[in-house]
Amino acid sequence: VLNVVVIGGDACGASAASTVKRSLRDEANVIVLERQSWTSYAACGIPYWIAGQTDGPDALVARSPEAHRANGLDMRTGWEATAIDPVARTVTARELASGTDHVLPFDHLVIATGASPVRPPIPGLDLPGVHGVQTLDDGSAIMESLADDVQRAVIIGAGYIGIEMAEAMCDRGVATTVVDQAPQPMTTMDPDMGALISEAMGKMGIAYQGGSPVQAIESGPDGRVARVVTGEGSFDADIVLIGLGVRPNAGLAQAAGLPLGDRGGIVTDDHMQVQGHDGIWAGGDCVEVVDRPTGRRLHVALGTHANKHGRVIGTNITGGDLVFPGVVGTAVSKICALEVGRVGLREAEARDLGLDVVSGTIRASTKAHYLRDAGPIHVKVIAERGTGRLLGCQIVGQPGSGKRIDVAATAIWNGMTVEDVTSLDLAYAPPFSPVWDPVQIATRKVAGMV
Ligand SMILES: Cc1cc2nc3c(=O)[nH]c(=O)nc-3n(C[C@H](O)[C@H](O)[C@H](O)COP(=O)(O)OP(=O)(O)OC[C@H]3O[C@@H](n4cnc5c(N)ncnc54)[C@H](O)[C@@H]3O)c2cc1C
Repeated sequence: VLNVVVIGGDACGASAASTVKRSLRDEANVIVLERQSWTSYAACGIPYWIAGQTDGPDALVARSPEAHRANGLDMRTGWEATAIDPVARTVTARELASGTDHVLPFDHLVIATGASPVRPPIPGLDLPGVHGVQTLDDGSAIMESLADDVQRAVIIGAGYIGIEMAEAMCDRGVATTVVDQAPQPMTTMDPDMGALISEAMGKMGIAYQGGSPVQAIESGPDGRVARVVTGEGSFDADIVLIGLGVRPNAGLAQAAGLPLGDRGGIVTDDHMQVQGHDGIWAGGDCVEVVDRPTGRRLHVALGTHANKHGRVIGTNITGGDLVFPGVVGTAVSKICALEVGRVGLREAEARDLGLDVVSGTIRASTKAHYLRDAGPIHVKVIAERGTGRLLGCQIVGQPGSGKRIDVAATAIWNGMTVEDVTSLDLAYAPPFSPVWDPVQIATRKVAGMV
């Protein structure tokens, strides 16, 4: 019987564990260590739970600990892995309720410990009414705070989680300000596209205060949070939400002497096996991934990759031969009626990498222009001068805009040129798009410039 120990019972860990169990059944003893009480939960759903678009937290759980146990996994919630010994091939784990330590031997170990939220040393981060947005317990704490009279929210951090939470607050009728040190929201986009987001947020009644880091979070006479102070001023708040990004949670791996990369994530090969360590696997938010177009190692904390890593790891443990071929930086998010998609390199990023690039931005319509519910869509395309290779694409627009990024993602994945994309046979009927798909209008423009 193969002894498999998995650390982390969410996207990557639970899917690796389930893949092994489904394939090997009684020939594998699969222990999953999860320090929280939840397993296989959708953190991605937290903003929509807070907005009132779904119930939580139970509705956000895809598979409960009991369901995993019914499938044969030895799912140990409330257990925290505290040390890995890669030579003795053991994991030390603490049963949190009793404080008892256990030493678990393994033939295969899967490290799927996720990411840790970034917490700069801002005074007041621990005040009542200040919340992170990472776990279902954070979601429950936010809902509890919202049960009080909450009229003003400040969101610290204008990445996608920050702006999704701004939408949630907006949906609840809470006056919302987003603060960030960057001049524009969503620094994963070029500044010109970020400016469109900030302008649209303003029209929805969400204020954006960029250009200055947060200096302090201050309390009122009742000891609860009352305001957020930046170099731009002081912003009153009954609730403060933190969305400052995440770093790989790789401390256990580091302490065990496993290799970490420049971005702080565990380094694996393309089979997701930790470099130099047979039978030790890692995936999800705790690892670095390879960016296909540039070959750089990046940390990209997304559920899309974590689930794929889990499948690759589980299959390889059972004797399969799957690779994770890398990423192209695809992401999509929504803020009220605005959809935002991005893939590949930003314009300045491409230039910093020494590439000679051209770019073009177009404004088109999400549907045939004569339909009443057609809305504007902006598409920016970045390509390599000379070869015409598509390097990046960014989309900001009304409903129906965001998922169009997948066409550009597929094209970048396959090394296509802007001319190739312009020739693609994409679907058209008036309720879906203009005759020329907006992504193709943009690649057509840039094809004339390369
Ligand atoms: C608010 C929010 C919105 C998001 N929206 C999106 C989205 O729209 N699209 C998208 O692709 N991604 C999204 N994500 C990211 C996505 O949720 C993560 O990328 C994904 O969950 C990563 O999976 P993982 O298995 O690597 O890590 P996690 O899901 O973080 O799971 C790691 C697990 O390991 C456990 N753990 C850690 N250390 C130990 C230990 N020592 N012992 C025992 N257990 C341990 C943790 O408790 C945790 O349950 C969102 C995340 C958040 C927070």
